[in-house]
Parts: sequence; C-alpha cells; structure tokens
Amino acid sequence: MAAKILDGKQIAVQMREELKGRIAGLAQRGIRPGLAVILVGDDPASKSYVTAKEKACEEVGIYSSDNRLVAATTESELLGLIERFNQDPKIHGILVQLPLPKHINEERILNAICPEKDVDGFHPVNVGRMVIGQRCFLPCTPHGVVQMLVRSGVVLEGAEVVIVGRSNIVGKPLANLLIQKSRFGNATVTVCHTKTRNLAEHVRRADIVIAAAGCPRTITADMVKEGAVVIDVGVNRVEDASAKNGYRLVGDVDFEAVRQKASMITPVPGGVGPMTITMLLYNTVESAERAAEFR
Ligand code: NAP
Repeated sequence: MAAKILDGKQIAVQMREELKGRIAGLAQRGIRPGLAVILVGDDPASKSYVTAKEKACEEVGIYSSDNRLVAATTESELLGLIERFNQDPKIHGILVQLPLPKHINEERILNAICPEKDVDGFHPVNVGRMVIGQRCFLPCTPHGVVQMLVRSGVVLEGAEVVIVGRSNIVGKPLANLLIQKSRFGNATVTVCHTKTRNLAEHVRRADIVIAAAGCPRTITADMVKEGAVVIDVGVNRVEDASAKNGYRLVGDVDFEAVRQKASMITPVPGGVGPMTITMLLYNTVESAERAAEFR
C-alpha cells in the first residue's frame, strides 16, 4: 500500500492557527510581535523566500519590517542596521536572508544579532543552548521536521533515525534535537555524509529516514526499509521543458518509488518547506512572549 503523505501545508495551517491565539493574547497586553527581515542584493530565490516570510507574518498578525538593501551594501552598514534592530523594542526577531554577497562576512553578521532576537537559531549561543538542552531558539527547518513527526503520531523514542546530511542548518541540529532526553527526542541517530562508506546499508536500518543532501534521488526505493517514515528536506531544481519556467522542484528522495515502500512520506514541494516558515513565526512569537515576561 502506498505511503500516507505527510502534508506540511496542513500541519503548518494548524500551527499558524495556534500562533494566532498566542498573538491575540499578546495584543491584550499591548504587544505585537515584530520581525525585521533583511535582504542584501537581488538573488531571485532569496527574494521569493523573503516575500513568502513577510506574507506569512502578515497572515498571522506579526509586524514585519522589510529591509531590502542593494548588493553593494557594506558590512559595516549591515552591522549598523542589525544594531539598530537589536535595540528596537518593537522588533523581537531579526532575520538576515542567506547567502550574503561575497564581500560580507556571514559569520560576523550572524554573530552580531543578539541571541534574544536570533529567531533563525543560528547564533552560537542558541546552538550551544540547544546542544545542552537549555531554553533557546531552535533552528527552523530541524524544529519543523520534529514538529511534523510528532504531530503525525510518529514515535521517536527508541526509533532508529538516519539523517543524510551534516550541515549546520539542517543535519547537525536535527541530530542534536532527536537525541535530546525529551519527548521530542530519545531517538538513536546516525548521521551520514559524502564520506559515509555504505550509505544504503545505514539507510536500510532506519525506522525514520531524513534526507537533507541537496541532491535528487539520493534515496532510492532499494535503500528504504518496508514501512519506514521518510522525510525529504531537499529542494532541488531539475529541468522540465513542460514547466512554465523550464524547471520543477524535487526533493532528495525518489518519491514515486519510495512511497510504495514507506508508511509515511513528505512531498516536495508541500512537505518540510511550509513548516520552516511556520517555525520562524513560532520563534518570533516566542521571543515577543519572553520580552513581555521581562516587562
Ligand atoms: P548543504 O549545506 O549542501 O549540506 C548537504 C549535506 O549533505 C552535506 O553534509 C553533504 O555531505 C551531504 N551529502 C550531499 N550529497 C550526499 C550523498 N550523495 N550522500 C551522502 N551525503 C551527501 O545543504 P543544506 O543547507 O543542509 O540543505 C540540504 C537540502 O535541504 C538542500 O536541497 C536545501 O535546498 C534543502 N533545504 C530545505 C529547507 C526547507 O525548508 N525545505 C531548508 C533548508 C535546506 P558533506 O558534508 O560530506 O559534503
């Protein structure tokens, strides 16, 4: 029997409804969560991500400050803008869209965002807190994946999870979340990468496979155990002459074949993507609530 499709859009709608309730609670205390979105340059993919994030803010009632800067913006100008938002009490989250132009040092920029407004969860302080299980902002894509699994009734405790990919934004933090001694963790996790000796052998053992390699067909049906849960984080453009813009988006998983063996599977698009943006909204609301606690 074909796998159940895990609909990220539907789970995202449910979570956004929950957030609207929390935003209404903040409004009663005179607080509106605010997110500063900063885009440097005019990369089309980055522009569309930023537009989607701002639209999502508007839909749930988060104020968003739209900052689109020319590609020639200097590092010190960008640092100045971040400092202004660090000090601004109306802003609870700061998001700098990556990648930045080459003349700007990405690490210096991300480290300049104060950890209390780091709603992407990339600041070393938040990363460190996550690793040792302290309260922090969790990175959006890994947190979105965990929410998706838990809300779909997938049992994490004791599960064999194989993650393909070890990036700082997906693979590594996801592994960290899933090994935490908590109800969102307690899994046994293997992390694979390009130097892994026998990828298929590892993946075949998995109750839950999470693909975050950035390469189409990294996971094929012969690699997947009957009944496994398959989460596809990958987003890849492949040429498609029949598509309006000449390409279509696919994940890292050979979807049609793998869905015949898996018990649950996420589609691309419409799987992990909508969850990522939702977790950004979640962190912004969380930040506003924390700021309210301190008032
Ligand atoms: P990344 O920084 O390029 O990392 C890819 C990782 O996958 C690396 O660790 C690499 O290993 C590993 N890898 C690549 N090919 C492999 C293979 N054939 N076998 C085993 N390991 C392999 O990418 P990323 O930023 O983590 O993103 C991964 C994918 O997720 C991309 O397609 C990206 O667009 C997508 N993504 C989606 C969302 C979303 O919201 N849906 C969010 C973030 C990212 P090495 O370390 O050895 O090079």
